[in-house]
Amino acid sequence: MATMKDFRTKNKPTWCPGCGDFTVLAALQKAVAELGLEPEQVALVSGIGCSGKISQYFNSYGFHSLHGRSLPTATGLKLANQDLTVIAAGGDGDGYGIGMGHFVHTVRRNIDITYIVMDNHIYGLTTGQTSPTSERGFRSKTSPQGAAEEPVKAVETAIVNGASFVAQAFSGDVKQMTRIFKEAISHKGFALVNCFSPCVTFNKVNTYEWFKEQLVNVDELENYQPEDADCALRVLAEANGTVTGILYKQKRPVYHEVMSGASDVAAAKLDLRLPKEEQQALL
Ligand code: SF4
Ligand code: MG
Repeated sequence: MATMKDFRTKNKPTWCPGCGDFTVLAALQKAVAELGLEPEQVALVSGIGCSGKISQYFNSYGFHSLHGRSLPTATGLKLANQDLTVIAAGGDGDGYGIGMGHFVHTVRRNIDITYIVMDNHIYGLTTGQTSPTSERGFRSKTSPQGAAEEPVKAVETAIVNGASFVAQAFSGDVKQMTRIFKEAISHKGFALVNCFSPCVTFNKVNTYEWFKEQLVNVDELENYQPEDADCALRVLAEANGTVTGILYKQKRPVYHEVMSGASDVAAAKLDLRLPKEEQQALL
């Protein structure tokens, strides 16, 4: 049986010492090993950014894809080989900026993959620009007078668009992150894990200490109901989004099963070149 070490590669991470992405990598390696998976059963697709390098450090099938395109790549992999455990990973700029369109549509399709976002509220690889999750007023090279925009509310967006599993984790708590990864990977359907993963080099505001002061852990809340979307949205609003734990989960049919169960219907609806009578005959 594979151990955590079997999911390591010979490549030494080039992340800055202290970067939150180290914890995400270690927690993911631990989670897949504890789930009894072998490297050849897993595919990790990453986007572009510091976090995108994760596919070079994780021993499995891997695909370092284009900026913002990890989700369509992972979707294609899953639909082509439904036996694979498919994980997509990237950063807040990659996933919630250029990749935002793919994000919403992957959520609503309920593709059976896990999506790990290393959210540091900044663009790290390009040396520190305001990102889609930077707070309003955040100062950087691209917003010297403070960001004018509201930050993207990614987990809330996932919940209201029908996500079947939504969680948040923090690089300062590897135990909780590992447990959440295990549940996310085991979940049947699209599972989002937004990880607060501090950029120690360029983000001097949203530091480990800052997150520790802000974070509310739903595991410590009495009567928290992860099946209740209203409850999740209320707690998120009260804590300005800085909430960790499994925020929301529901059972929903996964895309490839819906499509395979209704393949003739889908073919008739999709193949508009067929004469109407032939389409009808297929239904
Ligand atoms: Fe991590 Fe920031 Fe360094 Fe990139 S620049 S490796 S995000 S600490
Ligand atoms: Mg980022």
